[in-house]
Amino acid sequence: MINEKVQQALNDQILAEMWSANLYLSMSFYMAVEGYDGLSHWLKKQSQEEMEHAYDMADYVLKRGGVPKVEKIDVVPQGWGSPEEVFKHVYEHECHVSKLINNIMDLAVEQRDNATQDFMWKYVREQVEEEATALNIYEKAKKASEAGLLFLDSKLGQRK
Ligand code: MG
Repeated sequence: MINEKVQQALNDQILAEMWSANLYLSMSFYMAVEGYDGLSHWLKKQSQEEMEHAYDMADYVLKRGGVPKVEKIDVVPQGWGSPEEVFKHVYEHECHVSKLINNIMDLAVEQRDNATQDFMWKYVREQVEEEATALNIYEKAKKASEAGLLFLDSKLGQRK
């Protein structure tokens, strides 16, 4: 059985994942309007992945005899500037999410909840990948000319 504090932290994270999904969807729409179909596609995939995290965490809470909840989700920003600025924001957001994940891990350690520590390790690893990927795209966008951005756009459009 999951304890109240850990359940609350996971429910807060479910909302944070849903907020992230909305953030990336907002970016995806914006990039589509700006004519970057590939960047838009990549961001939509990213949005879907965040929803998968929310489902996965809700599943885990249920399995531990807890009650997952969907509460009010704050509005996300709209209008982003250049692709470089968009991906700078993606990178910064992923660094923020890493902190949230680490806080849940710290709580699970403090509460001696081994199962939640085990569950959260995959998100600790996931965040290493997310930060690296976002930083990589941001660095490329920063260096790119307009032609380079179109090349990056076609590359990211191939995300499965
Ligand atoms: Mg996530």
